[in-house]
Amino acid sequence: MSSFLEGFWNAVSWVRLEYLVEILVIYLVIYAFLRFMEGTRGEGILKGIALLMLTFPILLAIVAERFERFDRLLVIIRFFGAAAIPAIVIVVQPELRRALVRLGQTRLFGLFLKRETKGIVEEIVRAAFRMSRRKIGALVAIEREVGLRNYIEHGTQVDAVVTSGLLSTIFFPGSDLHDGAVVIREGRIAAAGCLFPLSDSPGAGNAAGTRHRAGLGLSEETDAIVIVVSEETGNVSFVSRGEIEKVDTDRLRELLVRHFVDLEEQEEMAEMEDMSDSAGYKGA
Ligand code: ATP
Ligand code: MG
Repeated sequence: MSSFLEGFWNAVSWVRLEYLVEILVIYLVIYAFLRFMEGTRGEGILKGIALLMLTFPILLAIVAERFERFDRLLVIIRFFGAAAIPAIVIVVQPELRRALVRLGQTRLFGLFLKRETKGIVEEIVRAAFRMSRRKIGALVAIEREVGLRNYIEHGTQVDAVVTSGLLSTIFFPGSDLHDGAVVIREGRIAAAGCLFPLSDSPGAGNAAGTRHRAGLGLSEETDAIVIVVSEETGNVSFVSRGEIEKVDTDRLRELLVRHFVDLEEQEEMAEMEDMSDSAGYKGA
């Protein structure tokens, strides 16, 4: 055997191999668990806990090493610490991916994406006011950062392109799916006939009925935006973060564009502001 191969074999000793297998198992367990929790309400909390549990030992290890204390603790921490780094990568993977995507997004690609989203906004606006004119009741929620998987799973799965025709068809009083709400996720109609939690906030006027209360309820529990068309009055309302507003065509378009299309831009701007703040600049 050549010395090169021998050296290689020594490097991949059994101890190291065992180590790799252990890390891989931890990696898989955490990954499977997070996939299972994906889109549920507990996801955010869980991620926070996981991050704390993973970063705390690392911090402790740094402190322990620096002050040359806690020798026995260090042995345990070293073992977990090595697994913590790939685990943290999995936990923050969506954020990491988003950051990388943004980094690699050319201006042209961004414009293309936005044009597609603007098309969806137009379809929703057209459907809302077509139903408003015909006094067809409707409830449409658009998922943002907080996953709506729980609600989608309890409705009827649709997975279709967002068109005003399909939205009006779903809510047409004779249709099997007209009862309940439609959820739009990742630019597609994910489900219909979904049930949202009813708000018990003492909303005035339109908010008294269950359809409006369901829209309000979802917007209180998640960051979703909701459009309600009243069967009784034909009024179209926009609901976000527990606030309900009666809208006309232009206002609905404006609000949807602001909440939907500009979401990424707002994030970018906030990040840039943070950066300039920490660099000591104070923008006017
Ligand atoms: P409208 O102004 O259209 O009459 P409303 O706010 O007065 O609306 P209701 O008249 O009670 O409310 O509307 C009932 C409809 O609301 C139901 O047929 C159903 O489609 C929808 N709805 C009721 N509860 C829920 C819920 N929890 N989740 C989703 N949709 C619901
Ligand atoms: Mg009613």
